[in-house]
Amino acid sequence: MFEPVLGGSILGRASRQGILDVELVDIRDYTQDKHRKTDDTPFGGGAGMLMMPQPAFDALRSVGAERKRCIYMSPRGRIMDKELLTELAAEEELVILCGHYEGVDQRILDAFGFEEVSIGDYVLTGGELPAMVMIDAMARLIPGVLGSSESLSEESVYSGLLEYDQYTKPREFEGMEVPELLFGGNHKLIKLWQFENSLRLTKERRPDLLEAFLAQPHEFTKEEKRILHDVLSET
Ligand code: SAM
Repeated sequence: MFEPVLGGSILGRASRQGILDVELVDIRDYTQDKHRKTDDTPFGGGAGMLMMPQPAFDALRSVGAERKRCIYMSPRGRIMDKELLTELAAEEELVILCGHYEGVDQRILDAFGFEEVSIGDYVLTGGELPAMVMIDAMARLIPGVLGSSESLSEESVYSGLLEYDQYTKPREFEGMEVPELLFGGNHKLIKLWQFENSLRLTKERRPDLLEAFLAQPHEFTKEEKRILHDVLSET
């Protein structure tokens, strides 16, 4: 599952440049069972199967997990956000464990001091997709992974606001026009239009983000202050 995601686009480029290095470990390679079994029924009953300690312990020890920061992808975990991702992106190495079936034997998590991280309040079949979401989002925060034209500073959430509406060619499509102001070449006006558009969207869709944005110190220009006042006073 991982290779097409890690090998393509921005992540693939980061790996080729040596900025990102993901080593995939198949826990099944460490089973001592002749049928390569890695799961068993939970003590105390309950639905489904759990990943057994032995293959996971051996796989984790093979990558020195006892000396590294370990993350278990889990719906029980802290919800992933940009603060956590920024912290994780600064780590030299991380071990990410993907659960399957009903999850893993608790002793695996306890022995290696796993932190549990969730990608949202829903349940997926396995930890692989959540791990890929985490690796992708984290990699974008590592210096050098994004090119200068792909800067994070204007992206939704990271800028503090949601990103403004964007358009590309053609200028008119099926009767729908691109806002006239974007063609004028007046960069100051374009920036103000984008600021206003971002503010409106954030106010409408993510008032929590807007509140956090306004609580931060900013050096707004006179025009930005006027836009802010207008947008905030609209009902
Ligand atoms: N029985 C578990 C529970 O209720 O917490 C859910 C197990 S889930 C079917 C199988 C695996 O998918 C988990 O062990 C975890 O690694 C991964 N997973 C599922 N949903 C996830 C989420 N929202 N965030 C992170 N990992 C998740």
